[in-house]
Amino acid sequence: PVRVRFAPSPTGRLHVGGARTAIYNWAFARAMGGTFILRIEDTDPERSTEENVQVILNAMKWLNLDWDEGPEVGGDAGPYFQTQRFDTYKTALERLKNRGAVYPCFCSKELLDQKRAKAEAEEGGYAGYDRTCRDIDPAEAQRRIDAGEPHVWRLKVPLDHGPIEFDDAVYGHVSFPADVMDDMIVVRTDGTPTYNFAVVCDDANMGITHVIRGDDHLSNTPRQILIYEALGYDVPTFAHLSMILGPDGKKLSKRHGAASVEEFRDRGFLPDAMVNFLALLGWSLDGETTLISRDVLCSEFSLDRITKKDAVFDETKLEWMNGQYIKEMSAGDWIDASVPWLARARAGVAADAEISEEEIRETAADIANRPEFYEKLYPLVAERETRLVDAADKLAYMFWGPRVEALDEKSVKKVLLKEGARADEALAACRAILADESRAWEAGTLEAACRELGEEDALNMKLKLVLQPLRVAVCGNMVSPPLFESIELLPREDVIARIDQVTA
Ligand code: GLU
Repeated sequence: PVRVRFAPSPTGRLHVGGARTAIYNWAFARAMGGTFILRIEDTDPERSTEENVQVILNAMKWLNLDWDEGPEVGGDAGPYFQTQRFDTYKTALERLKNRGAVYPCFCSKELLDQKRAKAEAEEGGYAGYDRTCRDIDPAEAQRRIDAGEPHVWRLKVPLDHGPIEFDDAVYGHVSFPADVMDDMIVVRTDGTPTYNFAVVCDDANMGITHVIRGDDHLSNTPRQILIYEALGYDVPTFAHLSMILGPDGKKLSKRHGAASVEEFRDRGFLPDAMVNFLALLGWSLDGETTLISRDVLCSEFSLDRITKKDAVFDETKLEWMNGQYIKEMSAGDWIDASVPWLARARAGVAADAEISEEEIRETAADIANRPEFYEKLYPLVAERETRLVDAADKLAYMFWGPRVEALDEKSVKKVLLKEGARADEALAACRAILADESRAWEAGTLEAACRELGEEDALNMKLKLVLQPLRVAVCGNMVSPPLFESIELLPREDVIARIDQVTA
């Protein structure tokens, strides 16, 4: 059975590249009926933090990438933090010793630095550790260890090893010459495992069958294979994923804007859209389908449709895709996901402004109080919203009441001031219709009545000239969600007051 793992180092937030690796592992496990493991590689004490672990777990949860074994859920192959697995690395070192596959090296750092400097100055350059300690008599080595002499443990790479070869599920056949591999350190002077050693021990002990990871690890792979061989364990299948590039063709990074998963969350992207989009950065269902649900991804994902071509992160496409997912949401889901931005709309602040917990709570209470009102906001934006944040600006007018400073300056100039008397005339006519209490306060009825003004040429004006001033008065902008549906959701007095404030 397939067992795969996502193994982030908690040295920072979950980057979109890491998220893609997580998605591929998760989808592959689901498609194969296998097990998806989350393992935290926290052996770098300087750079790993508890906070980053939480941030990564939260990002995984937000993306809805459920893991079968790992932090919080446990599992038989645990613990799932490398810092809690040191005894397994000790056991593995014993195994290597018993198999005669390692030797202690007593060369000091100073000595090694000298040797390196000398070799680099000479022709041929530095070819790795010169294996001085490899031939120390074992009894002698043990005596020095017992005497407390500092030492590391090095892998005794077989001198007659042919090229190190493997069939990568993405890259195909890969071959590295073994003679350039020096006798790498597996355990340091302080007894801690090196990165490659810990990864191999964990993957072997956790029964990992497929290692799916970024191709920045491709150069570690031959070293890791030598460790598998030394331990006498089966080598898993490797699948190395190509890089994700920014639109400028350079490796995607902070410079290109948002890079971490929660930055995308905070900018109003939906987890389903993110998963769909990231899955397609290097994998395809059939070369053309762009909207792929989680279910399809989890049943159809396969390693043989991963490309080794670098993928380009196209944010315009992500926005488009996000819009498609917003359109498909239920009103209730949209409200739940939009609370932070509805709170900003209510507060009349910018989409990216800070917002207090208090205001978020008040918004949630207001939603609970009048859910129908909020449900009716959804169709006002659903068709055109590309990110949930858009609600903050687009729907702010629903909460203002008449407030001159909230009107868009450009719209006021272009629609109200430029048309002057004609705009006032149109507004007066619309006002009369909207103030008429005998008419039902219903979008269709109100719209038909106002449209007649234009269509029957009652005012001798084009329809646009009749309705645009009303739009600016009510919605504050010449570009807005549907006008009459908006009017219907507002109290009549409020609408009249908005008209009066621009005509006064
Ligand atoms: N911890 C490594 C990283 O975050 C991943 C190691 C692996 O997948 O083998 O890059």
